[in-house]
Amino acid sequence: MIVAIDGPAGSGKSSLSRALAKSTDFVYLDTGAMYRALTLYCLENGINVHSQSSVEQAAQDIDVRFGDAVASEDPELGQNVFLNGKEVTRDIRTSQIDENVSIVALYPGVRSAMVARQRSFANQRNIIAEGRDIGTAVFPEAEIKIFLSADAQQRALRRTIEREGGDPTKPGAAVKDEQLYEKIYADMLQRDAIDEERTESPLKPASDAIHLDTTHLTLDQAVDKVRSLIIQKTASL
Ligand code: C5P
Repeated sequence: MIVAIDGPAGSGKSSLSRALAKSTDFVYLDTGAMYRALTLYCLENGINVHSQSSVEQAAQDIDVRFGDAVASEDPELGQNVFLNGKEVTRDIRTSQIDENVSIVALYPGVRSAMVARQRSFANQRNIIAEGRDIGTAVFPEAEIKIFLSADAQQRALRRTIEREGGDPTKPGAAVKDEQLYEKIYADMLQRDAIDEERTESPLKPASDAIHLDTTHLTLDQAVDKVRSLIIQKTASL
């Protein structure tokens, strides 16, 4: 079975997907980490992210792999990610990557290379895949499709707390650095706009997706809702 979880940055996709994977026998797939790893590769190797052909070539050349699912307890880190054999789990979560990743993700040759890897990762297993185009383009046949949303300021608050090493799902978690929050908020709106407006696999709900607004939901509440959908679906198969 495939569970597709799409939505904009900070809508809670990673926390929800990881918590679900932990409490079920599903394998977690963080597709954003793949686009981030490619962006890191371009930045480290002097490849201009605005050069479509160079970035598309790089997408063919790199090797991106995941370590054991849920290998890290850090709320933002998710799976351990390896780029050409080197661990880059932390290196792909920086403002510099945030600023460039949506440009890299625009190119059709990048998307086809990543989607092929994502499909081969699934390989008949039960997976929980999170991203922007999972329910629409990567796994349109997914048995369960969830589209998460949340108020933009709330999303930026969560992302800032994660970047500061905190856990936004814990009660009382708060932003320490207001300037960092402002930067993350602005970058996030820009990234959302690029992701929603691109012609190739834009961020949008699949017609059969279930919408879940997480602004006022705790992580446990979101997990319970999706877990009961999985149980219902499993019983009906
Ligand atoms: O989910 P995350 O914030 O790590 O994704 C980083 C970026 O990668 C997104 O803003 C988007 O530009 C791109 N992405 C994508 N398709 C996916 C996953 C991520 O275009 N399935």
